[in-house]
Amino acid sequence: MTKIKKKNDPYWIHHTHSPKKGEYECSVCCRRYSESAPSCPGCGSVMTGVKERSEWVDEAEKWDMYLENF
Ligand SMILES: [Zn+2]
Repeated sequence: MTKIKKKNDPYWIHHTHSPKKGEYECSVCCRRYSESAPSCPGCGSVMTGVKERSEWVDEAEKWDMYLENF
């Protein structure tokens, strides 16, 4: 009997830092789309939700601090 690990539930990674309006990246196959969908058109994974990629914002703030020191 094969037990499927639910460790990594598929979800969209919302890239708000993108110069475009917004991009959704599949957490499974890393393909990007302009809109989120119930399932990934690329790999067929059924999505459990959307996660904002807030770490990118924090990273950008750090870089602003570094740049101010120059
Ligand atoms: Zn996918």
